[in-house]
Amino acid sequence: MTANAKLTPYIKAAEIQTRIKELAKEIDAYYAGKEIIAIFLLNGAIFFGVDLVRQMKTPMKIDTLSASSYSGTESTGVIKINSDLKINITGKHALIVEDIVDTGLTLKSIVNFVGQKKPADLKIVCLLDKYERRVVDNLTVDYTGFKIEDNFVVGYGFDYNENFRTLDQIYIYGGEG
Ligand code: 5GP
Repeated sequence: MTANAKLTPYIKAAEIQTRIKELAKEIDAYYAGKEIIAIFLLNGAIFFGVDLVRQMKTPMKIDTLSASSYSGTESTGVIKINSDLKINITGKHALIVEDIVDTGLTLKSIVNFVGQKKPADLKIVCLLDKYERRVVDNLTVDYTGFKIEDNFVVGYGFDYNENFRTLDQIYIYGGEG
């Protein structure tokens, strides 16, 4: 099914890694050595999250959250949180690591869910931002890798029906040939 997929190169592996190094520096400077809990949103943010935290010097623990909203390329508009955190983040500095913010519905639900646990501070880092597609208000993404146009992307953690995540660069998905 994926052998004939139309994939157009969009963001090169080297560009992604260069931007991640810049983000890591910026985020390290903000925390200034304080310990944090980095919360990776499964499954998409694993690739970005690992590359990001390996460039950071801030002492940290890692936890994960799983939420689902999508089937194929269209949002169902329904956000389900499938798994809870294992680390108690109350009074701690928490950093949500997300792959992409599109309408913002997923991140907004996650921020509400994590916020209820009363962290001392909550920041968000997102690799890609489809800013034109935002439908929610009051969602501040503190650190963004790349602002992109409204294209459906795959590769570097981004999937289409669980395919293409392991590609090392980001492509625009143009359907099956
Ligand atoms: P939102 O709730 O902001 O509309 O959507 C966020 C989620 O939708 C992301 O975590 C991601 O799973 C999925 N998503 C949005 N745009 C894309 C895209 O271009 N490619 C892929 N693979 N997933 C996307």
